[in-house]
Amino acid sequence: MGIQRNKRNLFSIGLLSLILTNQSTGFDMINKKNKTGLIFDDIFLNPIHDDTHPETPRRVKLAWEKVQKLSGFNKSIIFLPLKKINDEIITMIHSEQHLKQISDRYNFKVVDIAKSAVGGVITACNAVHEKKVQNAFVAARPPGHHARNYGREEGFCFFNNIAIAAKYLQHFLGYKRILIVDWDYHHGDGTEFFFYDDSSVLFFSLHDWHAYPGTGDPARKGEGNGYGYNINVHLDCGATDLELRKSLVGHLVPVANEFRPDFVLISAGFDSRKDDLLGCFNFSDSGFYDATKIVLGIANEHAGGRLVSLLEGGYSPDGVANGINAHLVSLSENN
Ligand SMILES: [Zn+2]
Repeated sequence: MGIQRNKRNLFSIGLLSLILTNQSTGFDMINKKNKTGLIFDDIFLNPIHDDTHPETPRRVKLAWEKVQKLSGFNKSIIFLPLKKINDEIITMIHSEQHLKQISDRYNFKVVDIAKSAVGGVITACNAVHEKKVQNAFVAARPPGHHARNYGREEGFCFFNNIAIAAKYLQHFLGYKRILIVDWDYHHGDGTEFFFYDDSSVLFFSLHDWHAYPGTGDPARKGEGNGYGYNINVHLDCGATDLELRKSLVGHLVPVANEFRPDFVLISAGFDSRKDDLLGCFNFSDSGFYDATKIVLGIANEHAGGRLVSLLEGGYSPDGVANGINAHLVSLSENN
């Protein structure tokens, strides 16, 4: 998965243009440090599937409407405009064939939404890296953590946004050890796939491994140099905030403290929230608030507070909106 020198140069130029574009839009003038950035874009309000599909624009529409009413909005939580990325960012993780087949198979508007989700998380990583904000949440869709190199959508995922972000942080922003915390109800099998033999990315996923996609056996701990850097925690249907907390404090924090990440990413799925259409966990909004604090604690201890969180699943729009709000309040109180 090495990056060719000519591609590196191309990426660097792309990064430079991103920074320049930000300056030209007055982004620098905001210059608010110690804030939580929120990335959202109207492109995520466009449908990908038919009206009956659970991966609906309402998943982010309600959240966006609700977030703007938060008392901290425009104070401790600031809107960050999304910047698009070039295809070479995607092929840092995915094969050229996967990108081509996705591009050939789906309507260009659908592919544009999926690429914009990647752009959202890259925008967030740049903003945190440049200290424009302390941390950031990306309210993007479609999700990404099931995407491998299938050449088609898998589990509503086209491109693995979080895996691309981890690779981008390492290759372009110079970070060495990335922690990815995935609390989606489903196992982040795509993310596991890309880093299973990689000791520079610690992947933690809590999930119901009897659910789709049927992966996430806790016995799978990584291979080669990556052994010990893949943590799967299975929770049964009905799992509560207590199990969420125990999983993070018991299985994640001790390993993360040894790993000492210099950047922290969250695959924030809210289908692990109670009353979700596709999940059967019973996490509450206060559970997500606390979970956020625990992961922030790791980021504060080892990574200078640098943290980017990205929406994954969550299929009851009201529940997703409430979960995102609790998550954002918790993130913004860290500042
Ligand atoms: Zn999910």
